[in-house]
Amino acid sequence: PDLSEGTVNEHLDELAFLAETAGALTVKRYVQALPMPDNRTYLGSGKLQEVKTFLLMNEDITAVIFDDELSPSQLKNIENELKVKIIDRTGLILIIFAMRARTAHAKTQVELAQYQYMLPRLTRMWTHLERQRGGINMRGPGEKELETDRRIIRDIIAKLKKDLEKIDRQMATQRKNRGKLVRVALVGYTNVGKSTLMNALSKSEVFAENKLFATLDTTVRKVVVRNLPFLLTDTVGFIRKLPHHLVESFKSTLDEVREADLLLHVVDISHPGFEDQIKVVESTLREIDDRDKPVIMVFNKVDAFSHVEKEADDLTPVRRENITIEDLKRTWMNKATSVFISALKKDNFDEFRDLVYSEVMKIHVTRFPYND
Ligand code: GDP
Repeated sequence: PDLSEGTVNEHLDELAFLAETAGALTVKRYVQALPMPDNRTYLGSGKLQEVKTFLLMNEDITAVIFDDELSPSQLKNIENELKVKIIDRTGLILIIFAMRARTAHAKTQVELAQYQYMLPRLTRMWTHLERQRGGINMRGPGEKELETDRRIIRDIIAKLKKDLEKIDRQMATQRKNRGKLVRVALVGYTNVGKSTLMNALSKSEVFAENKLFATLDTTVRKVVVRNLPFLLTDTVGFIRKLPHHLVESFKSTLDEVREADLLLHVVDISHPGFEDQIKVVESTLREIDDRDKPVIMVFNKVDAFSHVEKEADDLTPVRRENITIEDLKRTWMNKATSVFISALKKDNFDEFRDLVYSEVMKIHVTRFPYND
């Protein structure tokens, strides 16, 4: 993995952004280079003591967040050592998803992922469970209670899965009833501008916000570009290290992507790590769908793109030094069907619409061969 200082900083920026989205303010960062995370405590003992000392001097800090999924025992050991709440990357993403879930469908999917995450971590999740189940046991659990509780959770998981299967079937029927119209799905890393683009194309109001995961549910809109109708879907954004359970429980949401005829892969080129984000999206797509389908690369936020001139004595690695938007265009136009736009300012929007039109048309004529 790329462990340059720039990349590590970007990853921690993203983690801080996730924390902020969840309502937390981050005050300090720790980085440790280990060949392998420590089995017992993730961090080495020296680093852990360093964090502990900082916590002792700053009593108003209430949680430590890790940019990885911790094993249940690591989580417990670190918590015992640091005596504050420990949140791992998966837990943080689940908190945000739970905050964002609006519809019954999204709520069910998030709830399933939460319980699956909770099951092996039951000891520490007890208080949470207590609230959910209306106080099964007000004291700490003994082994027997824990076993009872695990069984309860397994039952809940089984029920949620069944509920989701039912929703899946309903949604599959709905999709079938939509007929033969070409289906286009917006995909991309979280916060790249998918909802903004959806609004710009369909002139409807979808919730767009500078927060991670503003969209959890798919929104499907019928869009008409120059008399050519097609269906446009906005869906949940992808992110580095997306919890596996989440991908699984969001299956019916991701079915929209799987069953799309054309993908618009939206990229935020004003983000210094956009190339890594492209890779994350492409590998997530491979995970949920192994069929190749046409993709338009939509490089968004050209208005916010600024290239950085590298200075000779600059110690901070800059990822995209001396690369202009023209360089990017040359590279990508050769590699893929690409377009550079600003969804916000509508820069280059006509070219974008033309490109979408011609790609949709290619598919449309195969479905409706006798239409003009
Ligand atoms: P999504 O998570 O991919 O759906 O992204 P959103 O559509 O919610 O947009 C995330 C943030 O990026 C919002 O604050 C948007 O206003 C902003 N945004 C979207 N498109 C552009 C653009 O072309 N230029 C700039 N500067 N900001 C944009």
